Amino acid sequence: MLKIKRVPTVVSNYQKDESADESVGCGRNCLGACCINGARLPLYACKKLDKSAAGEKPVEPPLAFLESLVLGEWEDRFQRGLFRYDVTACETKVIPGKYGFVAQLNEGRHLKKRPTEFRVDKVLQSFDANKFNFTKVGQEELLFQFEAGEDGEVQFFPCMPLDAENSPSVVAINVSPIEYGHVLLIPRVLDCLPQRIDHKSLLLALHMAVEAANPYFRLGYNSLGAFATINHLHFQAYYLAMPFPLEKAPSRKMTTTVKGVKISELMNYPVRSLLFQGGYSMQNLSDTVSDACVFLQNNNIPFNILISDCGRQIFLMPQCYAEKQALGEVSPEVLETQVNPAVWEISGHMVLKRKEDYEGASEENAWRLLAEASLSEERFKEVNALIFEVIGCSNQEELEGTIVQKQNPSGSVTRRATEAMEVRSRTGLPLSALSFSEQPWLGLAWWC
Ligand SMILES: [Zn+2]
Repeated sequence: MLKIKRVPTVVSNYQKDESADESVGCGRNCLGACCINGARLPLYACKKLDKSAAGEKPVEPPLAFLESLVLGEWEDRFQRGLFRYDVTACETKVIPGKYGFVAQLNEGRHLKKRPTEFRVDKVLQSFDANKFNFTKVGQEELLFQFEAGEDGEVQFFPCMPLDAENSPSVVAINVSPIEYGHVLLIPRVLDCLPQRIDHKSLLLALHMAVEAANPYFRLGYNSLGAFATINHLHFQAYYLAMPFPLEKAPSRKMTTTVKGVKISELMNYPVRSLLFQGGYSMQNLSDTVSDACVFLQNNNIPFNILISDCGRQIFLMPQCYAEKQALGEVSPEVLETQVNPAVWEISGHMVLKRKEDYEGASEENAWRLLAEASLSEERFKEVNALIFEVIGCSNQEELEGTIVQKQNPSGSVTRRATEAMEVRSRTGLPLSALSFSEQPWLGLAWWC
């Protein structure tokens, strides 16, 4: 049930034959200045690029090409033994119950994982070139370069030089995978950005979710303090061929922003979370979530993000597990499991380290563990109010008991009309189809 269909390697390894001679540089064929000269990697671009100067001819990718590229290249690295353990041999089961939490027994992961090398009580920390970061990985761990833009045209260059001057965003394997096809998206890898959300990078991640066009492919993000283990900006992604419990949780609409982004809160889920969807454009959705994340970061509130449903939905989960742990407030039974509730666990994919926890896995246990990560109801409300202030809207339902869109003080009808015109010019939709009604996001998820 959880098996992902294997796909053949779609891209051959010929670029490796042309890549830097392994005897030059530091000898590790890394991404540093020592080894990057002459390095090549396939480039998947969902925008029009003119790379003719580099002597590269794009090929027209077939449908679902990104998926075959990710899985084909991942499978190739798997065959080459680049992973620290065989994730396909890990036992997995669905825990009986209402929510369908997924339990995986993964005894190898924490033993062989790259150790966390920074403080867990600070969400924002500077990049430290001396600690492990993705410029130190071997080039064989990289799968391809990924570029995104608004025009939606997809181009593929099988063997594009890595341009050290124009830091590429890359997709790499996670050598400690928790599922088939587990990869990392590393925005502008050579710019050495610390693990912190910025508007451009979240938009890139959202583009990847849209391009992958498979609801079973999700991207996740862990902030520092919410179980990121490397302070070098990265998103994770993998395929799990079933809905996550988080995705199935009912939600209650709280507000709609002036840009048409609908914000809801999850109901009956152990971790209090916000759900963002809609917007006049992909960027509206992405920017709203980025605004919220930047607020959380600046206020030292750790959080996780899940991008799901082909980029139509973004879940934001502020959390306080590490803080409670430091204060000795997490129950000993939960601590004993040594499970760190990062984005995948919070979404309902429980990666368990001990056989007894796997064998005794129950919905109740999963719930108890995740509930420890959640903000209290009071704190969640407080944080939401501040997020809404930053985004420029209020929790209308709660304040007014209605779903009517309140006019944002800075957002007049004129502004919304202008935005609608912008949407029209991009979509070619007749203006009459662009409602000025209270829920302009309905039917306007035009990029999907
Ligand atoms: Zn090197």
